[in-house]
Amino acid sequence: MNAEERAGLWRALSDIEDWVSGGARHERPRPDFEAAASAPGRGLSGGGLEAIAAEVRACRACPLASTRKNPVPGEGVQSPLVLVVGEGPGAEEDESGRPFVGPAGRLLDKMLASIGLSRETNCYIGNIVKCRPPRNRDPESLEREACMPFLRRQIEVLNPRAILCLGRVAAQALLGTTQGIGSLRGSFRDFEGRKLIATYHPSALLRDEELKRPAWEDLKKLREFLGADARP
Ligand code: URA
Repeated sequence: MNAEERAGLWRALSDIEDWVSGGARHERPRPDFEAAASAPGRGLSGGGLEAIAAEVRACRACPLASTRKNPVPGEGVQSPLVLVVGEGPGAEEDESGRPFVGPAGRLLDKMLASIGLSRETNCYIGNIVKCRPPRNRDPESLEREACMPFLRRQIEVLNPRAILCLGRVAAQALLGTTQGIGSLRGSFRDFEGRKLIATYHPSALLRDEELKRPAWEDLKKLREFLGADARP
């Protein structure tokens, strides 16, 4: 599909979404389809990823669809070394439709860079839920369950060498446990035959400096696993 066709599909899906949500027209930032066609760094550029992103944008499967401004399907390269999984979009992500662009996102970019990773070169960044929970509350179990099929499909398409879970909500959702992040972090786990490591969410690191050292230990383990492949 070329950039013009993508833009047409995006307009049609936006109209359907406005219609389903009561008929009022919502202003949305228009994705840069022309750039997406030439830059491999954005989620829109991959065939399977593009289809998933379009479904995410049209999704009304849970109540978050009625309070979101923009769904946030995810972004990054198509064959990443690492899939980074957060909890769900915050205010700035909801405004922009892009994952981890607020203060926690800026810290995440630094954390990734410290071990030779970035969303532009070798990572994909996604979330457990693709729409912002009001007032940044934890996503509820129905919301997580409604959204997880998107992440599962992204994992299949992306086929990452490792998954990095940020924070309790992401780690619990993928590992199917209620254990705290303190016990889930620190060592590699199995997610359906894939290597998964969990660490503290960057928002937690912004609140509590003392978590930075254990988070760095987790990142070093990931770097060691990836070996020479992890280069920015
Ligand atoms: N926090 C998350 O968990 N995900 C985002 O995309 C942004 C902030």
